[in-house]
Amino acid sequence: MALANENYLKTPEIYCFDDIDKRVNAYKVLHPTAKIIRLGVGDVSLPLPGEVVKALHYAVDEMASAETFRGYSPPQGYDFLIEKIVKEYRSRSILINKESVFVNDGAKSDIGNIGHVLGRDNIIAIADPVYPVYENATIMSGRAGIMLDDQKWSNIVYLKCNEETGFKPELPEERVDIIYLCSPNNPTGTALTKTELKQWVDYALDNNAILIFDAAYQAYVSRQDVPQSIYEIKGARKVAVEIQSFSKSHGFTGLRCGYSIFPEELIVYSHEGEAVPLNKLWGRRNANYTNGVSYIVQKAAEATFSRKGKAEMSAMIEYYKRNAALIRKQLMLEGLKVYGGVDSPYVWFKTPGGIPSWKFFHTLLYDFQIIATPGIIFGQAGEGYMRFTGFSSFEDTVTALERIKNQF
Ligand code: PLP
Repeated sequence: MALANENYLKTPEIYCFDDIDKRVNAYKVLHPTAKIIRLGVGDVSLPLPGEVVKALHYAVDEMASAETFRGYSPPQGYDFLIEKIVKEYRSRSILINKESVFVNDGAKSDIGNIGHVLGRDNIIAIADPVYPVYENATIMSGRAGIMLDDQKWSNIVYLKCNEETGFKPELPEERVDIIYLCSPNNPTGTALTKTELKQWVDYALDNNAILIFDAAYQAYVSRQDVPQSIYEIKGARKVAVEIQSFSKSHGFTGLRCGYSIFPEELIVYSHEGEAVPLNKLWGRRNANYTNGVSYIVQKAAEATFSRKGKAEMSAMIEYYKRNAALIRKQLMLEGLKVYGGVDSPYVWFKTPGGIPSWKFFHTLLYDFQIIATPGIIFGQAGEGYMRFTGFSSFEDTVTALERIKNQF
């Protein structure tokens, strides 16, 4: 009899965002002509930038010719892309070497897969609320322990992240081994300053812990004192893996490409105390578990680093940030408590009168035909909050804001 991995049974059968679709579909059946506006979605709406499209066409033609055809990619990624990534860090005075860069098919894969190279007994810390994949990946890899009466997992340390802390995670009181950090954060839109991030690096250095730094929204940072990379903090190369994505900066959510940095200085330990560079383990994992990202997609990613590619990226980011800024402003005018929307496409807000998230989700859907994401999806501390995003079109964003003006 073949046995199932029962850890998978401990996570909800449907991914949290599918629950929203289910409810929206039920609404659509009853209101087939309603003009629904999606202000909750974490997916981009603008088409791929011209430079990316050009590179894709060119690479397809290369694949069609015997002289320029490519088969398997090197497992770590093509040099032409890795060199651009290293150069980009260098232009921001961050020195990383080629060997520390691993191209992937998007941040989510590495966020889930990193558990393969980390011991089972590590204590994992995550913020509450947070991007749900960190918790689900911890549960599915068998590290979460048992579900307690308060619906929290016994082996996960939940970092306080609420109104009291300005929706920024608080350092753990106990010792933990691995901390997922996301800045700018999904869903709260808050971003950690240099001083705040330094506290996390210092904690990790003092406790032999490691940080898994999810920088998927790095391109949205505009304030001077907010780092775009954790390696802007002294000592971070010894304790932090950085996970990056082209999804939200270049519209790659459907194309799929990102990269992770595993610095060679980052050491983990065997039970016998033997020091092991995590970079080596990750290389071994990659060699055995993936055949990398397609040549065509890596060429498209390379194009984002050209002068024109960067200009297109800035325009795209500005477009989504303008939407986010409008949402933020309107919600504040409505008298609501608002976070994010400055270094982030996400705007996080408290529901009027603290109405439970799902209840307010239905109010927005049924009374205003607007879809928002209920904060409870991201953790218990998200109850009573909602997430709007700047990823819709400008026109839809303006229409949605008109609909809710003076309504709360
Ligand atoms: N990390 C965070 C915080 C995200 O919000 C998302 C997607 O929404 C991802 C990672 C996944 O990004 P990718 O499309 O690169 O897999």
